[in-house]
Amino acid sequence: MLALVGGTLIDGTGQEPVSDSVVLVGDQGRIEAAGTRGAVQIAPDIPRLDITGKTVLPGLIDCHDHLASFGYSLESRWGLTEPRSTRDLRIGQVLEDTLRTGYTTVRDCGWLDTGFKTAVDEGLVAGPRLLVASSPLSPTHGGQDRPADSGHRRYSMSDPVMPYGIADGVDGVRAAVRELVRVGTDVIKVFQTGFGRATHRDVDTAYSLEELRALVDESHILGKKVACHAIGGPGLRTAVEAGVDSIEHGCYLDLEPDLLKMMADQGAYLVPTLTVFTFHETRGNPVAQEESQAFKRHHVETVQRAMSEGVKVVAGTDAGGWIHGNNAAELELLVQAGMTPMQSLVAGTGWAAGCLGLERELGTVVPGKIADLVVVDGDPLADITILQDKERVQLVIKDGKIHHDGITQIGRGS
Ligand SMILES: [Zn+2]
Repeated sequence: MLALVGGTLIDGTGQEPVSDSVVLVGDQGRIEAAGTRGAVQIAPDIPRLDITGKTVLPGLIDCHDHLASFGYSLESRWGLTEPRSTRDLRIGQVLEDTLRTGYTTVRDCGWLDTGFKTAVDEGLVAGPRLLVASSPLSPTHGGQDRPADSGHRRYSMSDPVMPYGIADGVDGVRAAVRELVRVGTDVIKVFQTGFGRATHRDVDTAYSLEELRALVDESHILGKKVACHAIGGPGLRTAVEAGVDSIEHGCYLDLEPDLLKMMADQGAYLVPTLTVFTFHETRGNPVAQEESQAFKRHHVETVQRAMSEGVKVVAGTDAGGWIHGNNAAELELLVQAGMTPMQSLVAGTGWAAGCLGLERELGTVVPGKIADLVVVDGDPLADITILQDKERVQLVIKDGKIHHDGITQIGRGS
């Protein structure tokens, strides 16, 4: 057991912070108790860590990342830039670095094979708890279908263990979902509009309503949520009407107030992924730059309208192709888009767990939940950017086990 004593507790529910708190981590990797120092009894034999002046938070959650992506070129997407062994070890390093920054859970929305999840679970490599989409789905000429300009086509990751991810027609999408679940996929990711390609612009539709309904139905039958890339246009409408569980990006939702209402009614989450578009704006290919710049204003407006309509907006970076290990940048961008720092923290903890369907296990510092915790030096409500400072993220606990300890005062203090 371990007692974190004296810090300010932000529990991930959105409730007021608790100063001079105690969080008790039990031997089973669960939170035993959390509250004010006066309210929580600490047995004399329990090791204590004095975290006075620091803030304790739930482990952070990124609802949309690509841990196996290292660039947007076709060469990189096809896995031609380096041997697979080098790439796999590089991914291992990213997993470790990401956990070190306080991200204890990451939903990978495409191209990380499920073996990495097994490797983390077995302790072969340190990393966040993973929910893995494996191969995203799209129809022919959709987001997963990436031929060369010549028309030459090959498997997206040149990896025979990963499903192809391109499926057409009602029967085709049902079979594709089953194939993904067969390899251990946790979440079904689908591209329902384009982005960043001259031949498939951000408001071009991928699946018909009939196809997408079948995809969602089959996923739900198999107990999987559907995370849907949809930026705008008719495809965005189809996605909401088909009942997907989260809209990824959703940049033009501000133009569709009825869709925001539908999302709120259906309990669908919005994962705006502001981080990735800040990169696309200046560093993307010409089409991606143009599209990102065009919808920037809408994207910020979308976050604000979604919040006021009661849609849960959660944190996801989608930044893997550009940069790894700075996932907390999204929390800063959500604040810039109009959230309070507390709302932003909930978007990256309690609500994020809900988006992943893990709200009973993760996301808040509540007795009985898995003990994923981060201690940061300072007050993230006063300055949300401190979560991006590796030196200030001083303690990372996942499943009740310490993965990083920059405090090293266990047993001292009171
Ligand atoms: Zn993505």
